[in-house]
Amino acid sequence: MQKIIAANWKMHKTRPEAAQFAAQIAQELAKGTPEGRLALIFPPYTDIATVADAFAGVTNLAVGGQNFYPAENGAFTGEISPAMLRDAGAVWALVGHSERRHVFGESDELIARKTAFGLEQGFKVMLCVGETLDERESGQLKAVLSRQLSTAITPLDPKDRARLSDRLVIAYEPVWAIGTGKVAGPDEIVEAHGVVRSFLRDLVGGNADEMPILYGGSVKPANASTILGLDNVDGLLVGGASLEAASFLAILRA
Ligand code: PEP
Repeated sequence: MQKIIAANWKMHKTRPEAAQFAAQIAQELAKGTPEGRLALIFPPYTDIATVADAFAGVTNLAVGGQNFYPAENGAFTGEISPAMLRDAGAVWALVGHSERRHVFGESDELIARKTAFGLEQGFKVMLCVGETLDERESGQLKAVLSRQLSTAITPLDPKDRARLSDRLVIAYEPVWAIGTGKVAGPDEIVEAHGVVRSFLRDLVGGNADEMPILYGGSVKPANASTILGLDNVDGLLVGGASLEAASFLAILRA
């Protein structure tokens, strides 16, 4: 399976900064993408068109939106629609990132609506799931992952669910490892990814083993290769270490 290396820029980079980063990545990858890798950038909305323009014509390089509101248009001040993201050049959309869940209070139900709407609108959706430290320490890892996955996937039409593996990607991101410098250990990652895989088998059936599961949480060039080698790790979602082109390229080549 192709490994997906995704960059989440969060609320970083003006357009000139994004243009400089994207040009550097596009120039490097035009010489050849590391074999079996897809590079994906989730820039802030104002940078999407800039990054997509710089990536035009380079293979295995794609752009996504960090969020959207699940409606075609309407009185939703401050929000952005999937059509607007598509128009700017986004093909992917991130849904349920821990900062959306825990900083902005998004519920499992809203995340489920976004998952369904994003897929319906033709996006490749990256659904983020993960437990807080309290949840992990109180033995709720499986319950949290089960709830987050099933609330988002169960409402999807059963005949679509069986064909989701090329349109839905899961990112397992333990909340306590995001932006903290604390990386989950190999055993913790293997355990959580195994739990996600087994829930996916129940939820989507036949194609579950082809659905990529990415790890995210304090990934750096120094730990990327080890994490990518673990069972059921099909890629990485990288925040802080994706902000410098050299560091992102090192992770892409790890
Ligand atoms: C993220 O934003 O999804 C993330 C994993 O951040 P960081 O790599 O900085 O922990």
